[in-house]
Amino acid sequence: MYRPKKSLGQNFLQDPNVAQKIVRLFDPQPTDSIVEIGPGKGALTALLLDHVPHLTVIEIDNELAPQLKEQFGEKVSVIHNDVLNVSWNTLAKENNKIRVIGNIPYNITTPILFHVVEARNVVSDFVVMMQAEVAQRITGKPRTKDYGILSVFLQYYCTPRNLFSVSKNSFFPVPSVSSTVLQLDFTAPAPQRAKNDHLFRKVVRGTFGLRRKTLRNGLRHLGVPPAEFERLSVNLDQRPEELTVSDFVTLADELEPLAATLLETAVEEPNE
Ligand code: SAM
Repeated sequence: MYRPKKSLGQNFLQDPNVAQKIVRLFDPQPTDSIVEIGPGKGALTALLLDHVPHLTVIEIDNELAPQLKEQFGEKVSVIHNDVLNVSWNTLAKENNKIRVIGNIPYNITTPILFHVVEARNVVSDFVVMMQAEVAQRITGKPRTKDYGILSVFLQYYCTPRNLFSVSKNSFFPVPSVSSTVLQLDFTAPAPQRAKNDHLFRKVVRGTFGLRRKTLRNGLRHLGVPPAEFERLSVNLDQRPEELTVSDFVTLADELEPLAATLLETAVEEPNE
């Protein structure tokens, strides 16, 4: 008998109605290039194959990867590896962006999200089941407790949509938290784009690093000389969680003349 491994975040989806709902909302089309992260025992894989002739799955588990090969044969290419080591560029086919789906392990949700965000040029969308609390942070709006680095980054690179909530009783073993299925649409990033992506990220990370404090303190901490403050259009008495994604883009663009210096400065950053 297979014993689920806690270390790999293995909570297998048991409820067929939930699996069907995820796949129905993902809406696979026969010509789609689909990659599933962490297929486990194939709860979603089998349903996806009702719509597409072939798909690629990435599974790290030494027992489950060979089982998937046996179960699905040539219809599924099994990449037996850590998803964080897989290069999306090598999976993408010309003129056909990848569609990603997965009920992903809770312990590495944020690294997986950033790994997919980095591949946004070759990924069109990601339907992903995750811990409800992380999903709330991703879709969080300014001036709420959920709004932070994860909200600003994800809402900058894609449009996140909350599809539905899933009870913890839908899994085996039953996890300690409930889940949410989100759709991340990379074809619809925020309309306002920063001149310098690295600087945008640095400003967001650096200012949220001093949560509950003002933007003025955050910018000082980032190494912005106070003499520059006057020409900035955002109100520096605000706290970072009061700024919209578009405000952060404006701020980063106004700091662009200082980019070389600011990007050199090492700043203590939250690891979110
Ligand atoms: N998709 C299956 C389901 O819904 O029943 C399994 C979901 S389970 C929450 C997460 C799956 O991801 C497990 O099969 C686990 O072995 C796999 N996994 C964990 N860490 C991984 C990693 N770094 N790379 C690829 N797969 C991973």
